[in-house]
Amino acid sequence: EARMYYENDADLSLLKGKTIAVLGYGSQGHAHALNLKDSGLNVIVAQRPGGDNYKKAIEDGWKPVSVAEAVKQVDWVHILLPDEVQKKVWEEDIKPNIKKDVILSFAHGFNIRFKQIIPTPDLDVIMIAPKGPGHLVRRQYEEGKGVPCLIAVEQNASGKAKDFALAYAKGIGGTRGGVLETTFAEETETDLFGEQVVLCGGLVELINSGFETLVAAGYQPEIAYFECLHEVKLIVDLIFEGGFGKMNYSVSDTAEYGEYVSGKRIITDSTREAMKKVLADIQSGKFANNWLEENRTGRPFFKKERKDVSERTVEKVGARLRSKMSWIKK
Ligand code: NDP
Ligand code: MG
Ligand code: MG
Repeated sequence: EARMYYENDADLSLLKGKTIAVLGYGSQGHAHALNLKDSGLNVIVAQRPGGDNYKKAIEDGWKPVSVAEAVKQVDWVHILLPDEVQKKVWEEDIKPNIKKDVILSFAHGFNIRFKQIIPTPDLDVIMIAPKGPGHLVRRQYEEGKGVPCLIAVEQNASGKAKDFALAYAKGIGGTRGGVLETTFAEETETDLFGEQVVLCGGLVELINSGFETLVAAGYQPEIAYFECLHEVKLIVDLIFEGGFGKMNYSVSDTAEYGEYVSGKRIITDSTREAMKKVLADIQSGKFANNWLEENRTGRPFFKKERKDVSERTVEKVGARLRSKMSWIKK
C-alpha cells in the first residue's frame, strides 16, 4: 500500500523567505500562482504579453515579467509551460539565467523523462503534479479542498528536495487531498498511457464507434448520441463514486448481464495487445519523439485529425442537443 502524505507531513515554513517563479499563467500556472500566494508565499509570475493569459494575470493583480527576468530573481523555478515548448524556453531563457543551487520543478515529467531538459547537478529537480485540471486546482483550494498531487525527486542537491516538494504541494492545496510519491518515469509513462489508452484515445473512439454503428444501422442519431455519449457521464459518475459495484447495483440486471456477455467481445485480447504496444512506444521514447517532431514540422497530422474529429456526425448532433440543455456549462 502506497504511503500517503497529508497536511501534517508538510512544512510550509521551508518556503518562507524563498521566492517562487511560476512560468506560464495557463491552466496550471494561474492556479499554482494564486494558491501559493494565498498560502502566504512570495510568487512572481512570468507570462508573455499579448494573449488572454497575460490579460488574466493583470486582472488577478500580478505584474507579469518575462521568463528570463523572473528566473534571475528567484530561489525556485516552476515550469508550467506546454511540454512541447519547454526545451526551447529552457535553453534560451532559463538555463542562462537560473541561479546556482535553486529548485527547478515541473508538473509533468515529460521533459526530464525524455531528456529534453538536462539540468545542472547543483539544482534540486522535483515534480509536483496535481491530478486534475488547473481550474479545479484553483476552485478546490478556494473551497478549502484540494486536488491530490504526485511528487517526485529527480535530483536532490540540497538534501531536502522531498520536503520542498511536499511543502509546495501543501501550498497549492495538494496535501488536503493527499500526496503520493512517484518517479519522473512512472508519472510520465502512466500519464501518457492513461490519456492515450483509456481517457482520451480509447474513450473517444469507443463512443464514436458505438454511435456510428447505431447510425449506420438506421437508428436515429439523437438516440445514438444519448446512448453512447450522454450516458457515459452518468455511468462514470457511479463508477467514480463506488466502483463497478455501485454502477452494477444501479443499472438493471439486464444491463449487467449484457456487460458480462459483450464487454470482452469489444475489449479483446487483441485490444490488450494493442495497449501493450502503445505502452512500449511510450517507454521507448518513440511517442515522445514523434510528438516533438510533429511540433517541429507545424503539426500537420495533429491539425488534420483535430479537423476530422470536429466534423464527425456525433459532434454535430451533440452540439445541437447540448444547446437545449441549459444546465450544461458552455
Ligand atoms: P497551458 O497551455 O494552459 O498554459 C501554458 C502557458 O505557457 C501559457 O501561459 C502560455 O502563454 C505559456 N506559453 C506557451 N508557449 C510559450 C512560449 N513559447 N514561451 C513562453 N510562454 C509560453 O498549459 P497547462 O497549464 O495545461 O500545462 C502546463 C504544464 O502542466 C505542462 O507540463 C502539463 O503537462 C502540466 N499539467 C497540466 C495539467 C492540466 O490540467 N492542464 C494537469 C497536470 C499537469 P500564452 O497564453 O501566451 O500562450
Ligand atoms: Mg497528460
Ligand atoms: Mg440503457
